[in-house]
Amino acid sequence: MTPEGQTLLNQGATELGLNVEGQLPQFEQLLNLLVEANSRVNLTALKTESDIVLKHFVDSLSCLRGGHLDGAGLRVLDIGTGAGFPTLPLAIVRPDAAFTPLDSIRKKIDFVRSAAEALNLTGVTPLVGRAETLGRDPDHRETYDRVVCRAVAALPILAELGLPLLKPGGLLVAQKGPIGEEELHAGRRAAGEVGGRVTEVDAFTLPVLGDARTLVVIEKVGPTPKKYPRREGVPNQQPLF
Ligand code: SAM
Repeated sequence: MTPEGQTLLNQGATELGLNVEGQLPQFEQLLNLLVEANSRVNLTALKTESDIVLKHFVDSLSCLRGGHLDGAGLRVLDIGTGAGFPTLPLAIVRPDAAFTPLDSIRKKIDFVRSAAEALNLTGVTPLVGRAETLGRDPDHRETYDRVVCRAVAALPILAELGLPLLKPGGLLVAQKGPIGEEELHAGRRAAGEVGGRVTEVDAFTLPVLGDARTLVVIEKVGPTPKKYPRREGVPNQQPLF
């Protein structure tokens, strides 16, 4: 990573209240692995160092705002992790948590697995599959303390995919761009239908770049009816609200 890249990462992390000086070598290694893999397979549209540092690394770390991922030994599922975001940056700064990055696309999970191994992130267990399938699997349903997801789907869809996988009292932390009243309203209704309640809508700007971001937090306040999640593809094709 160039000195400029390091400065951007430090500056972004500092604005989020984090100190990542000690983890710079791991972020540098992740950057190199991503750039190298991206030259062979199309993993992510972001290709420049500053884009990867700010829009992948710092953006993923912004998930830590509000302290929703604080606490030792949390089990965290990342739905639609793609090339490992937000899981990989989070796992670098939260080595005590157990992360399960999930994606339906095998080549993406192959990269996440090899990167986690190279970075010695022993708490990361990547999984190929769909959230709808996992949500009906007794080995996964209601077993996670947190579900995170970045840039995956509209809020009502995320509620249906994420809530079945949370333990009672668990939190879904959805990372989104600017969110409209309509989506938020539909998200609140969908959350209610699957045993959740929107407890926080945190609108902020991304460090350095100033792009608008929103963290929406849904708490699991009651059981999720057995009929959810519906079968593969249905939450997307026919959102609850
Ligand atoms: N979270 C990553 C990021 O922010 O860079 C990737 C975002 S990408 C736009 C969305 C990803 O979600 C894709 O890789 C897609 O395969 C995955 N995805 C969408 N719906 C899914 C589902 N129901 N189960 C598992 N993965 C899903």
